[in-house]
Amino acid sequence: MDTIFTEKHHLRNSKTELYGGQLVEPFERPSRAEYIIGRVREVALGPVSAPNDFGIAPIAAVHDADYLTFLQAAWTDWRAEGFKGEAMTTVWPARRMSSRIPTHIEGRLGYYSLSCETAISEGTWEAAYASAQVALTGAERIRQGAGSAFALCRPPGHHAAIDMYGGYCFLNNAAIAAQYLLENGAARVAILDVDFHHGNGTQDIFDRRDDVLFLSLHGDPMDAFPHFLGHADEIGSGAGAGFTVNYPMPPGTGFETWRAALSDALSRMATFAPDVLIISLGVDTFETDPISFFKLTSDDFTTYGADIAALGLPTLFVMEGGYDIAEIGVNTVNVLQGFESGCNKPSCLT
Ligand SMILES: [Zn+2]
Repeated sequence: MDTIFTEKHHLRNSKTELYGGQLVEPFERPSRAEYIIGRVREVALGPVSAPNDFGIAPIAAVHDADYLTFLQAAWTDWRAEGFKGEAMTTVWPARRMSSRIPTHIEGRLGYYSLSCETAISEGTWEAAYASAQVALTGAERIRQGAGSAFALCRPPGHHAAIDMYGGYCFLNNAAIAAQYLLENGAARVAILDVDFHHGNGTQDIFDRRDDVLFLSLHGDPMDAFPHFLGHADEIGSGAGAGFTVNYPMPPGTGFETWRAALSDALSRMATFAPDVLIISLGVDTFETDPISFFKLTSDDFTTYGADIAALGLPTLFVMEGGYDIAEIGVNTVNVLQGFESGCNKPSCLT
């Protein structure tokens, strides 16, 4: 399997995250990607190549123009106010307040964010842009006939909504890849989000669409970030009704329960018959992940990679979360190797 990767992910190197009332080193840090690419090379998964530049247009096909303008200038605007630290949100348009977009950067941070743990730092836009290009390059490989590809995106993307960042995400890489494929020959795309956290951004982007089936297996939002989306009764709106499927699961969920949800998701995908499957691949379902509460083991990742392969669909893996950095490389590559071992249909063999 080909891996798409760029060292530009290092440009996203925030020093502060608000966690448990303390400013800590962010859980989403550059070493995550280094562990993963190290493991890809260690097991000789396949060629590793740099992304092409598809420009801003495929990003603007998913995110609002005013949001992108804000994101590109946020760090500069923040520093221009004389603030000494990284750009963190301190105020939101809460219930019954105005949703007018403020002029001051402090207000705009609140308008365009969904949470405050994620600080905008120097280079954030450049890294997020490069990460989206990694996903687009993977999508283009699939469009050209590859049976699978691994877009090693960092920063991740699935919490980024049409006009909001948060949860370490700025641009929704999986959604950008899906939209690109739909505009370039695919009639239907399925996105399966196996990250521990609900893919609220992806759900937001495709809420009213019937050409994208979005399925997410995640910690119950009653107990887990992002807390305000991801319930089982959210099924999509308008023409998209029935094209969003959520599988919230409680603290302590092990592989048997998780795999039963996956099995249901896979059967729904088989019925939907997409041209391409995109996996939002987060491995923070691991039993010792520091910020999650599922109990998957390293072997379980191999097993479910093979389960996904049984669909026999062209599949693009897009990296999302996973924070137990000593194991993140092994668990990620286990999914990819499990997929390759389980793939015996013609479309998988390229
Ligand atoms: Zn996650």
